[in-house]
Amino acid sequence: MYSTMQDFPLTITTIMRYGAGVFGDTEVSTWTGDGARRRTYAEVGERAARLAGALRGLGVVGDQRVATFMWNNAEHLEAYLAVPSMGAVLHTLNLRLFPDQLVYIANHAEDRVVIVDGSLIPLLAPVLPQLKTVRHVIVVGAGDTAPLEDAGKELHGYEALLAAAPATFEWPEIDERSAAAMCYTSGTTGNPKGVVYSHRSAYLHSMATCTGNAIGMSASDVVLPVVPMFHANAWGMPYAAVTAGASLLMPDRFLQAEPLVRMIEAERPTIAGAVPTIWSDVLRYTKEHGADLSSLRLVPCGGSAVPAALMRGFDEIGVRIVQAWGMTETSPVASVAHPPPRAAGEDAFRARISQGRVLAGLEMRIVGDGDRVLPSDGEAVGEVEIRGPWITGAYHLDEDPGKFHDGWLRTGDVGTLSPDGYLVLTDRAKDVIKSGGEWISSVELENHLMAHPDVVEAAVVGVPDERWQERPLASVVLRDGAEVTPAELREFLTGRIPKWQLPERWSFIGEVPKTSVGKFDKKVLRRRYADGDLE
Ligand code: ADP
Repeated sequence: MYSTMQDFPLTITTIMRYGAGVFGDTEVSTWTGDGARRRTYAEVGERAARLAGALRGLGVVGDQRVATFMWNNAEHLEAYLAVPSMGAVLHTLNLRLFPDQLVYIANHAEDRVVIVDGSLIPLLAPVLPQLKTVRHVIVVGAGDTAPLEDAGKELHGYEALLAAAPATFEWPEIDERSAAAMCYTSGTTGNPKGVVYSHRSAYLHSMATCTGNAIGMSASDVVLPVVPMFHANAWGMPYAAVTAGASLLMPDRFLQAEPLVRMIEAERPTIAGAVPTIWSDVLRYTKEHGADLSSLRLVPCGGSAVPAALMRGFDEIGVRIVQAWGMTETSPVASVAHPPPRAAGEDAFRARISQGRVLAGLEMRIVGDGDRVLPSDGEAVGEVEIRGPWITGAYHLDEDPGKFHDGWLRTGDVGTLSPDGYLVLTDRAKDVIKSGGEWISSVELENHLMAHPDVVEAAVVGVPDERWQERPLASVVLRDGAEVTPAELREFLTGRIPKWQLPERWSFIGEVPKTSVGKFDKKVLRRRYADGDLE
């Protein structure tokens, strides 16, 4: 028999109505460089209604795509709420992509409108004529629009459009399974692949993010999403904040350590999420100049492995980093690393430095050769597979059967699962170094190297070797003025890793190349080595 429960759809519209209604006084602050401009959730809700009306007026109907090319700010939140709630699909464009990738994804998604921040016009203008399906460009804030003028698109000012639109909008009834937003993954081989989130997946992901086993977000929190809203929905933090009635502090374009520290001191957020490279910069800045980060009760960190030294460094200044794991395909938060209740000292630290336990609603397993499911014994190493209501089951108009397996997503990440559910990643499948038939974890080597006091960053890749097929090459960025030799670094690693894993190839570089989402770009390092540009 069926239940007696109402079949009420799980939609972003519901989240928006709840936030703008019940938490109408809650603030969204956008950092301006020397202060913040503020708007309440009630105002954001009204402006979202105006934006939806304006977009309808420009001819946006059905599930047409509305792209954003924006920083994290209140206007971006308005688009996050308005576009899916009107039944259209929000497509967040990554402003750090190479121009040809940008053209590819905007055309592939068939974006009809682009909402662009005035400060980003110089990045959009050169590619705009090639965005075949785009009819309208809406400019937010100040900026010279002249470079956009010859692209054959209609230009509009965001505030003028909103002012001319009605303050209310007849939000349509939406099937919870329909598309709400989309995001393309970067860093994979071939063309970027589109992941399409549904209202239901976004809703369930927001609820899951708010639980205590994730980040326990509530109306008492002030949330600072440093991770961009164009990258996996800023880890779902904006929607989760509206769901929780938490205040938002938006960093806009001020993403370097110094302005981040200043906004944290001034606005006192309680939760701030960013990738490890950003927190490493913040920690270094704090040690050199001093900073008051005491408002932060929790710092979600992920996107790549959190170095142990970084977590300890933050522990020392009394700020708790919590590692989370996920990917664009998983909405993205899938597991979060809280220690078991009774663990203390190094046991607790070991759990925190893992990729954590999967959130309720999802299932995870480790699969070995021949698609054999391996035991969760903390020892068997295999590819992580995952399934659940906020995990993608396909890519947008792009068959990639190799990524899916019996209803599970193959993540491309390699690691172990412990009997009590902790995931420990040793590598991405494509980054594992295979030396003489044995696997070397590039992540583990990097972690140990970055624990050296003079090492700022270290990236390890496998390079061809006649005898061993592959050997590790360590590219190291030293602290300004530091002088350390490869022999000293080998000495430092001795005892921490098996001797046969010690790299014999070293190069000292000024900076580790990064992908458009701030991760170590190992493809570039491998290419440089092949070209003879690295020792
Ligand atoms: P891409 O890096 O391909 O652009 P994503 O941004 O979706 O795509 O990144 C997902 C990948 O990031 C994961 O598959 C994993 O390799 C890595 N990752 C995310 N969080 C962590 C973490 N906490 N520890 C280690 N790796 C992580």
